[in-house]
Amino acid sequence: MLELEILGSNATAPTKEGPASCYLLRTETGVLLVDAGPGSLAAYCARHELSELRGIVVTHLHADHSLDLMAWAYRWTFPEELPSIPLFFPEGEAERLAAFDAVFGIPTLPTMNRPIAQSFEARPMTRDGVTVYEVDGLVFRSFAAHHSVPSAALRFEAPDGRVLAFSSDTGLCEPLVEAARDADLFVCEATYLEADEQALHGHGHLTARMAGEVAASANARHLVLTHFADPADWEEGRRRAAEVFDGRLDVAVPGSRF
Ligand SMILES: [Zn+2]
Repeated sequence: MLELEILGSNATAPTKEGPASCYLLRTETGVLLVDAGPGSLAAYCARHELSELRGIVVTHLHADHSLDLMAWAYRWTFPEELPSIPLFFPEGEAERLAAFDAVFGIPTLPTMNRPIAQSFEARPMTRDGVTVYEVDGLVFRSFAAHHSVPSAALRFEAPDGRVLAFSSDTGLCEPLVEAARDADLFVCEATYLEADEQALHGHGHLTARMAGEVAASANARHLVLTHFADPADWEEGRRRAAEVFDGRLDVAVPGSRF
């Protein structure tokens, strides 16, 4: 069994629809959090037990995907210390995580000097599309997405062979297509309806139509559009992606499960 629950799908910040980026993967034995955007801890605790959490994967260190890591780390220490779990992040980003700890670490509390480093086991991900990582029996690989900071598209493979892929934030690039190749479910960013060259190919994002094109060229079976800059664009984004992708198509509405 591998179930995806959308906890939050907003780009930039939480809205009344839900938190910024955070997704839950449920297997028979536990859950894995993909991205820890603002609001993710509150949304998780409203529906799930912390004791079920087996690990956290952060696709990249932009605040809308990672800001709540400090909240998670505080919760891992108070009111009771919880057993350490792995925290996966793109290789090369350890220093920025350490800088986060330097800002919010509490020098007078020994267990909170470096909250993230002390709460979680650091697992940098090589974004080579080859190295296999494992959490609680669920294996995955990490691919070099094109974004303004190191960003990891993810490809999870369940024991029954089913594939679930995440784009992370990215512009169009070959590793993204490889991550989504023949995926049963592909969660792909669709930040814009329209955008200029710099936003798409410099900074690195996709339009909803481009997300549809990636899903079609990767031969994904089911596309879930996420990370809209404006939730008001959901229906129009879905319509534009459907012009170029003829598989099953959904929008990552918080609370939905696949
Ligand atoms: Zn980003």
